[in-house]
Amino acid sequence: MLVDSRHPLIVDDVYPSSLCNNLLEKADILYIVPNFENNSISDNEEWCAKIRYLNKTIGLHGIRHSYHEFDKDINKEELTLAINSFENCFEEKPTLFRPPYNKINKDNEETISNFNMTIYKKKFIAHPYCHCNPKSFMKPLNWILFC
Ligand SMILES: [Zn+2]
Repeated sequence: MLVDSRHPLIVDDVYPSSLCNNLLEKADILYIVPNFENNSISDNEEWCAKIRYLNKTIGLHGIRHSYHEFDKDINKEELTLAINSFENCFEEKPTLFRPPYNKINKDNEETISNFNMTIYKKKFIAHPYCHCNPKSFMKPLNWILFC
């Protein structure tokens, strides 16, 4: 195990159909995608309970995780719904935000701040960091080495 215990282990792309159960337990921070492929997390009570039971720090990771989602204009209504789903699911409001693909434009940065979330991007890449569903090119770096 090569995890450096001084740094939190971050796991991105957490949603009900993602396959990373063993990783969820090891992680310190889970970044949740609230509406992946139109499946709202709040419709899956069993999964919500499972994540709550893990008792990890959790944050919001986009809305649907579409390509460069937060580098484009986002629909504030959709964002509000995503935050509400998060709150229904985990019984807390999100306070941490990681933009999908590490990309967020100025307008969206402001919107996220207005929802009282702190934005974490690029700098965290240097820390132990995993994707639930790693792309093959990420595996040596983010999956095998750190997870
Ligand atoms: Zn992601």
